[in-house]
Amino acid sequence: MSINQRGRTSVAIVAGAGAVAILAAVWFNWDADVATKTLDMPEISTLQFGMIDDERIRNAARDEPGSWLTYGHGFEEQRFSSLTQINQETVNELGIVWTKDLDTVHAVEATPLVVDGVMYFTSTWNVAFAVDARNGDEIWRYDPEVPGKTARDACCGIISRGLAVYMGRVYLATLDGRLIALDTVSGSLVWEVDTIIDRSRNYTITGAPRVAAGKVYIGNGGAEYGVRGYVTAYDANTGDQVWRFFTVPGDPSLPFEHPEMATAAETWKGGEWWKIGGGGTVWNSIVYDPYFDSIYLGVGNGTPWTRAIRSPGGGDNLFLASIVALDADTGAMKWYYQTTPGDNWDYTAVQDMMLVDLSVDGVDRKVLMQAPKNGFFYVIDRQDGQLLRAHAYGAVTWASHVDLATGRPVENPDTVYAENPQWILPGPSGAHNWQAMAWDADRGLMFFPIQEMPFLYAMPEEYLETGLYKRRPNAWNTAVEFGRYNQMTEAFEEPPESKGYFIAFDPLSGETAWSVALEHPWNGGALATAGDLVFQGNASGLMAAYAPDSGTEVWRYNLYSSIVAPPITYALDGEQYLAILTGSGNNAIDSASYKYGSTGRLVVFKVGANGTIPVPPLRDITIPEPPALTGSADDVDRGDVMYHDVCAFCHGFGVHSGGGPPDLRMLSSESHELFQAIVRGGLYQDRGMASYADLYSTEDVERIRQYIISRAKRDRDAALAVVDEANVTTP
Ligand code: CA
Repeated sequence: MSINQRGRTSVAIVAGAGAVAILAAVWFNWDADVATKTLDMPEISTLQFGMIDDERIRNAARDEPGSWLTYGHGFEEQRFSSLTQINQETVNELGIVWTKDLDTVHAVEATPLVVDGVMYFTSTWNVAFAVDARNGDEIWRYDPEVPGKTARDACCGIISRGLAVYMGRVYLATLDGRLIALDTVSGSLVWEVDTIIDRSRNYTITGAPRVAAGKVYIGNGGAEYGVRGYVTAYDANTGDQVWRFFTVPGDPSLPFEHPEMATAAETWKGGEWWKIGGGGTVWNSIVYDPYFDSIYLGVGNGTPWTRAIRSPGGGDNLFLASIVALDADTGAMKWYYQTTPGDNWDYTAVQDMMLVDLSVDGVDRKVLMQAPKNGFFYVIDRQDGQLLRAHAYGAVTWASHVDLATGRPVENPDTVYAENPQWILPGPSGAHNWQAMAWDADRGLMFFPIQEMPFLYAMPEEYLETGLYKRRPNAWNTAVEFGRYNQMTEAFEEPPESKGYFIAFDPLSGETAWSVALEHPWNGGALATAGDLVFQGNASGLMAAYAPDSGTEVWRYNLYSSIVAPPITYALDGEQYLAILTGSGNNAIDSASYKYGSTGRLVVFKVGANGTIPVPPLRDITIPEPPALTGSADDVDRGDVMYHDVCAFCHGFGVHSGGGPPDLRMLSSESHELFQAIVRGGLYQDRGMASYADLYSTEDVERIRQYIISRAKRDRDAALAVVDEANVTTP
């Protein structure tokens, strides 16, 4: 089937709802507004699909419940579908209808969109796909050709959480900081802009752009490295910048970019945060509110993480870890709420935000809800930012509670780690992270994955000794001790365990209605449906459905790869589908990606289908005999510190990886010989392993290799000992 035929098919689908006239009107208005600006643009097909406007998004729940038009399913981002064909009676008849392999071992985190019969989604390296949502046939793909070396600037992988469709365009933001508009029909480039203000800093984009009110909104990441956060609104048609809002103050010797920066600057005291970066990146959630015509930004942690170094004179450090409400047309601030004043723990407030109409203490309110990393669940009035609730939803040790009268958390003085390392909950992974939540309005319950991943926070040794901290270009600048993390935690006989749960939480009462203990931490996002089902994929590779009232598991399907993405559901030609992206380098022992490796794949289910996926062989996790250890004990220790300062973020703490980036204990003898060429020479730059010659000398790299060898030897000997023991005890 050609693209054109597919285009007709797609238009015919929406014509069933009488939508052709609406689409034509939208197109006409759009053209009339911008006619003078479109002359130099590529010709856009006369067959239109993906003609989404604000009206269509607002009415989607009523007019086209089978679509999935935006990242969070509507402006409110509630991720609740009214479809009921898949329900508690039929869920056990779900089978695979089609799959699409993405040829990646990296985490696949995106929410697919389904518009006019076409599914749009992103894979790693921001490669965008348009496929027929009935059968997965590829209509087009667009590879923005993100340079391989960009992977070095990404704290957390070459990931993408999705794209946006609006006015006949697909909007894609790339890891290397570009915002791209493509034609929905052909996938051809319409425009591309560079969103990055300072190319000398390590900015990246992993979040899905949001669209509304004629504009595209995009932030960025990079706060671990040291950048200054901001969000930009671009004209959706032309790519022209409309406004830009900075989230933290810059160099105090320069004028403020906008008045809100004067307010913010008063809360940063002493120190030279702007040299390190400041942070406050908006790397995930940006939500448009059609009722108030507001844009809400979820703002991240500071650079560095430690407030004693970032702002030694104290202060709240606005707008770190805040929810900021802006006027959608001007970018002027309406209100803000700071979840973690003077953040000291990487407690971003970038997690998904949800807009809900809710009766609170007998008053009908339009509220915003968020469960940021810090462990408290916030219910905020969108009119003025008033805090209504802030119950703990997970294990929290850094604060006792949030005082509703002041709106501020009451910190636990034992957990400031200024002098001594402290195990603190939540850790930097958060009690909940970017993984999607789903809201059941009838039950008043939020479904989402949480985790208990304690972290041993410590000030950097260099700072404790000298009182100084110096920014390191092209490296993490958290000013929290990562280099010695492995050595510090190995000193504990029984370091606290990490755990993961899937919960149903009542934001008003603070009660957890039910909690499912999962086998591993770090699981997928949620989807709730009117079929009385809640769906979630998990680290064990299971796509599961739960009963919303009890949390009883009613269905599971093994997809043999750890899952972090959220499921979506849609309907076409009277049939309901369930779609999920698999793939995550989870390194928990016995997680699916640990056992089988990580498989990037889109899997779509429907009732009565009987397709299958190949059952992968178990990953060979035998550690080969490593080369001889030639370094001294001191070399190994120093290699350990350098490894955990830089390499561990991709290759795993303790050189223990899980089916994503390579486990270096298993390096071949050829790779050992090429080690300098890879690490300093950039031999595998195109695969994402750029040169680290700017950070590490030849001698340093050899010390890192010696540490890897020592670790491989130790773990190989331990594994062999287990085999020996089994042989002895087995008759
Ligand atoms: Ca962070």
